[in-house]
Amino acid sequence: MILGIDLGTTHSAVGVVDSGFPILLADEDGKRIIPSAVWFGKNGEIEVGRKALRRRAVDPSRVVTSVKRWMGTEETTDVALGNVGRSPEEVSSKILKELKRIAEWRIGAEVEKAVITVPAYFNDAQRAATKKAGELAGLDVVRMINEPTAAALSYGLDKMKERSRVAVYDLGGGTFDLTVLEIEDGVFQVLSTHGDTRLGGDDVDRMISAWMRDGLGEISHDVAVKFTEEAERAKRVLSSEDEVTIRIPFYDGFSSFEKTLSRGMLDTMVKEWISKSIKCCRQAMLDSGLGVEDLDSVVLVGGSTRMPAVRDAVAEFFKKEVDVTQHPDEAIALGATIQGGVMSGAMSKMVLLDVTPLSLGLETFGGLMNVIIPRNTTIPCKAGEMFTNAADGQEKMSVRVLQGEREMAKDNWELGKFELEMEKLPKGQARVGVQFKIDADGILEVLAREISTGKDVIVHIQSSAVNVDDAAVEEMVSSSVEHAFEDMSERIFTEAKMKADELLPAVEMILAQGLVENEERAEIESSVKEVKLAIADHSANSLKAATQRLDSATEAAAARLVEKAMEEALAKQLGI
Ligand code: AMP
Repeated sequence: MILGIDLGTTHSAVGVVDSGFPILLADEDGKRIIPSAVWFGKNGEIEVGRKALRRRAVDPSRVVTSVKRWMGTEETTDVALGNVGRSPEEVSSKILKELKRIAEWRIGAEVEKAVITVPAYFNDAQRAATKKAGELAGLDVVRMINEPTAAALSYGLDKMKERSRVAVYDLGGGTFDLTVLEIEDGVFQVLSTHGDTRLGGDDVDRMISAWMRDGLGEISHDVAVKFTEEAERAKRVLSSEDEVTIRIPFYDGFSSFEKTLSRGMLDTMVKEWISKSIKCCRQAMLDSGLGVEDLDSVVLVGGSTRMPAVRDAVAEFFKKEVDVTQHPDEAIALGATIQGGVMSGAMSKMVLLDVTPLSLGLETFGGLMNVIIPRNTTIPCKAGEMFTNAADGQEKMSVRVLQGEREMAKDNWELGKFELEMEKLPKGQARVGVQFKIDADGILEVLAREISTGKDVIVHIQSSAVNVDDAAVEEMVSSSVEHAFEDMSERIFTEAKMKADELLPAVEMILAQGLVENEERAEIESSVKEVKLAIADHSANSLKAATQRLDSATEAAAARLVEKAMEEALAKQLGI
């Protein structure tokens, strides 16, 4: 079992794949998101999450928040975040330990492995510090994935189409980044990323709080904390309401605060702040070399993207409706969980759906099945082969698309059939390329191209190549095992028969042309007899042996035939 963890600046979350589904795990209060806050008591006590935040009212200097900003630096939290003398790794490890505890409590078993997400812009030191924090928490960090990649995974964008380009706009509490990703066949590549590690929802809280305190004069640190808390609450309300009245009774012991803030006022307040993020978007797009019209999707993550003004600005910049189908606070943890599930095999059910349950191929000469894509190939996939004409001057080639495990075409299922027009050419000289392509949805497309004419036929096989009834797959596979011996012998017979059909007329010609020496004649004639007998008996192994015998008996004569033909050609050229 592998946990998926979003170790966020303001909030963190943990998930696991349960019965094939990624789920986030809730703590004792039923909350799936815990604040990334740690309280270090004077006597060594430690509290994490909401409990730590509650301590802020009475012991603000010993509560550490936003430690993620200091990861990978030598900073101790003395300087940066209070007076607790801990390294950023150590503080983070307490959060990770709490997530591990919640997960183990929910699952009822110990878990040691985890996938942890990091911002795409994190450097080596920051990544190493994150890994170290995991180790300190007793976790084996099996993979660190970029946050935008995790978000794209949770939106299922890896399955959208063969190649897609996605922008992930992540505006959290303290940081912002925009990442442009290219996803091809399930592989994620970061094309560009640009951000601001000092831009986030906290800024808005400070702006609202400053507006609230305007004209109030000096206030204590603790009262300022209270104002910021109320500012944050008001901001959240304004994401769904037009107006909010903020009340703080007796904030300094005798006077009370009351003021009304409207959505419009907030929008004006944050205009500049939002345009800072849009500036980063512009830079990231420039670096990626793409235009906004090249993007298939724009995904929003991070709690601050709940603000309507943010959504509107992003949609306007990208000229696209933004994808908000996922919970912005949960998308990253969910993506990490999916990654963990894939790595542990817990999501193999999903992966299994993505392989071809049965082989796909074509009927070739003699009614044989020629496999192009073997069963259990991961989709999407593409494979092809070259074929030639079976007869002189053949005008058409019929292509039968088959599915199944049997050696003979007739025993497999026909998925489709079409004809390709051909240039009239001597036998064996035409070149026809056939390509099979299965997309992520399991739809098979067959392309046949005659190389000399460049004529294409593209056929979409409507019945899905992947969604085959389980029972039917089982029956096909077991019948292929059951008939393995006969099938193989049928294939050997057919291949030997094709060889014999080619050899027999050639031998006749050699004999007629008098190219056979006396001592060879007896052996050739007896081999021919044996071949004909084996065909009549329908005996695979005897036919194979007889054709091989005939082949070697005529080897010397065939060489003479070639030599004679060359001499004749030369004489013709020289005009003799
Ligand atoms: P994150 O770091 O992704 O957890 O984002 C946290 C930030 O999102 C904090 O600044 C929150 O105040 C902010 N946030 C959460 N919910 C809302 C909401 N409904 N409206 C506006 N901001 C929100």
